[in-house]
Amino acid sequence: MANQERDGQTPAVYDVAIIGSGPAGYTAAIYAARANLRTVLLQGEQIGGQLMITSDVENYPGFIDPILGPDLMDRFEQQAARFGTELVPRDITRVDFAHRPFRLWAGDDDDAPVYQADAVIIATGAGAIWLGLEGETRLQGRGVSGCATCDGPFFQGRALAVVGGGDTAMEEALFLTRYAASVTLIHRRDHFRASKIMQERVRNHPKITIRFDTVVEHVLGEHAVEGIRVRNVKTGAEETMEVGGLFVAIGHKPNTEIFRGVLDMDARGYLITHHHTMTSVPGVFAAGDVVDHRYRQAVTAAGEGCRAAIDAERWLESQGEVEPGDVVDPRVYGGLRPLQ
Ligand code: FAD
Ligand code: NAP
Repeated sequence: MANQERDGQTPAVYDVAIIGSGPAGYTAAIYAARANLRTVLLQGEQIGGQLMITSDVENYPGFIDPILGPDLMDRFEQQAARFGTELVPRDITRVDFAHRPFRLWAGDDDDAPVYQADAVIIATGAGAIWLGLEGETRLQGRGVSGCATCDGPFFQGRALAVVGGGDTAMEEALFLTRYAASVTLIHRRDHFRASKIMQERVRNHPKITIRFDTVVEHVLGEHAVEGIRVRNVKTGAEETMEVGGLFVAIGHKPNTEIFRGVLDMDARGYLITHHHTMTSVPGVFAAGDVVDHRYRQAVTAAGEGCRAAIDAERWLESQGEVEPGDVVDPRVYGGLRPLQ
């Protein structure tokens, strides 16, 4: 139920609004709601986040046996709801962080629901960039992957291909050699953009073969990846390679478009946190893959969600009573003076 529906014409003000329903968002909600903060969680279009598109998760602590990604996220959601989080299956399209309470719009129309909160936690995540091939989408989770740490152990003894020429592709290829019989690293140009040291490790690894000037054009297989069709962009020669898995490592994109010009972000669009989990706007916190381009794991996202909720709680406490329309006071944050 949108907050204005509860209070007639006057929108209610939540203590905390959380944007995003992946591991970071739900964990933040568990902590915030359990701390008796009036909490709303805007779940977005992909309710449950990235783990909804994977099968077995084997590295989330507490689960001895593998758990399906959607089942794990269902548990996150139920736990957040148990402590009284208001769950709203809407996407936020616009924000106003200039004044408290902060405002979040779920839609572009004039009558789009508006959510107001004294603190906001952004947990909008990120997504792998894909090649855009038909078979790639169809066989995701069945041989096509964007995460070697997550899926590598499922490919014991297989021949694998990795696409990309940056540090992530080098890292993925090296990591996969632990399990794979062989790894072919496919790059569209004749030199890598990865750091020299990573390139050296890849070049010197006996299990890795490099294919420069090569693009993947088709992913083959009915129910699982059986091979890929590649083309040399200089000679035009085409070839079918038999592989049991395709790891696409051509970059990630954080979901931060709506915060552009509002919050500090790096050149790739990841939100920058200045003090613990606080963004460039005091009272607005960020957690999970939307900040983290290094670890990108469910457990690290959940951990950051916990940190952000505790930071939000302490920050709210330090602010005392704030009237609607008050200009954000940047100076008080648990004894820190983060932004002037
Ligand atoms: P996400 O899970 O990306 O969630 C982002 C949320 O934000 C979504 O709910 C989305 O709807 C919402 N959102 C985005 N924009 C808006 C908006 N404008 N308004 C409202 N909501 C919005 N990690 C592991 O630890 N183990 C694994 O085995 C594993 N396997 C993986 C398999 C796959 C196929 C993929 C893609 C990832 C895998 N990962 C795994 C990585 C893990 O899923 C991520 O690190 C984790 O989900 C990040 O959590 P998050 O909460 O930061 O963001
Ligand atoms: P990246 O540096 O942007 O590299 C992406 C790679 O994918 C590039 O080689 C690019 O090719 C290729 N590519 C992009 N679109 C493609 C497409 N449609 N088809 C085929 N290939 C495509 O991304 P990243 O590797 O994820 O790294 C991101 C940042 O994180 C970098 O700054 C990196 O240094 C850092 N990082 C560091 C480490 C580490 O230090 N250990 C590990 C991982 C990441 P072109 O080269 O032709 O553009």
